[in-house]
Amino acid sequence: MKGKGRNANSMGKRVMDRLDELAQISESPGMLTRRFLTPAHARAMDQVGAWMREAGLQVRVDPIANVIGRLEGRRPGAPAILIGSHIDTVIDAGKYDGNLGVVAGIEAAAALASVPDKLEHAVEVIAFGDEEGVRFPSHLLSSRSLTGAVRARDLDVVDADGISVKAALGGLGLPDGLAACKRADKDIAAYIEVHIEQGPVLQAKRAALAAVTAINGAARMRVRVEGIAGHAGTVPMALRQDALAAAAEMVVAVEEIGREGGDKLVATVGRTDVRPNAVNVVPGEVHFTIDVRSPSDAIRMAAQKKIATALHKIGKKRQVRVTAETYYEMPATKMDDRIVAAVSAGIAAVGQKPIMLASGAGHDAMAIAPKWPAAMMFVRCTDGISHNPAEHITRDDSDLAVRALIAAIRHLDATL
Ligand SMILES: [Zn+2]
Repeated sequence: MKGKGRNANSMGKRVMDRLDELAQISESPGMLTRRFLTPAHARAMDQVGAWMREAGLQVRVDPIANVIGRLEGRRPGAPAILIGSHIDTVIDAGKYDGNLGVVAGIEAAAALASVPDKLEHAVEVIAFGDEEGVRFPSHLLSSRSLTGAVRARDLDVVDADGISVKAALGGLGLPDGLAACKRADKDIAAYIEVHIEQGPVLQAKRAALAAVTAINGAARMRVRVEGIAGHAGTVPMALRQDALAAAAEMVVAVEEIGREGGDKLVATVGRTDVRPNAVNVVPGEVHFTIDVRSPSDAIRMAAQKKIATALHKIGKKRQVRVTAETYYEMPATKMDDRIVAAVSAGIAAVGQKPIMLASGAGHDAMAIAPKWPAAMMFVRCTDGISHNPAEHITRDDSDLAVRALIAAIRHLDATL
């Protein structure tokens, strides 16, 4: 590993320098915004492709704008250990969400390419483009296209300017060809995604890295509470059917049910809408939302049931009408035990305690896991801040992540 200077911390430094450089590629000056298939995304694709070539990878772009760099193993055409994440961002984003996984993957592949002994497997690094779903009303088109889950009509969705995904792909000079994006089962042996945690748990545990065991399933509910609006001065307390006071009790009940789930459940009321919302009127109607997530579908569904029961009980007690409906439900994605074990082994190999975490946010790994064994490695982020320009990781942690990733790839190569 000498000669190329891939020793402790120089890998972390290169990763941080490249993330700074990549963050300069934006749609708007002064902040990082890089939506799917914009000219900024195309420039980032070029930059990532150049780094992949420099690392000794064979580079291609598939018809959905994934940049793929491949390092052959001992036997050309062997199944690949795929390392990926996304290079699109939210509006006014941080530098690390998604981009870290791609840059760290390139750094790991470069280290593996720089030593004479080859792996049994190929290693591929992939930069997805449609993870954040900010420009189009689409969902993980880039990673889902690998499994064949994207249909031609999914590319007809349009952005705010009426431009379809299909037209935007054409604008980048990419050929039609969803079929060419789909990978054969035997092409890919495993998938690992390195990603910032986007939460505060690792920092609280004073740990740099975690192996992700599952991506939480989620449900969203809409609740309507109907009481009776009245004059804040003339309706006596005993005669009120205050929709907001009832809703407040419901919010606390949701929080309590979430707390009862320990580290396996979160429940949030994130939005309320009070009517008529006036200082001198007893609130007549309140609408609010509930978001429930868990790595276990059974725990989440039990919590949803418990919440519904609590809402109606409170409604009855306070003589307000309650209607609740679940309008979105996404099951949990369990990560593959063998790949989780490899990620933990990689974390242990760099002298860190392997923490096991479930992911509260969605990731490209969700799209890959139904077809190929997949897992993720989380990297501690300062104060859990993400989707924000203040997002931050340390150079030491990024160095540990790359070295743990290399160890995990080697572990998988020897055990798969
Ligand atoms: Zn991300």
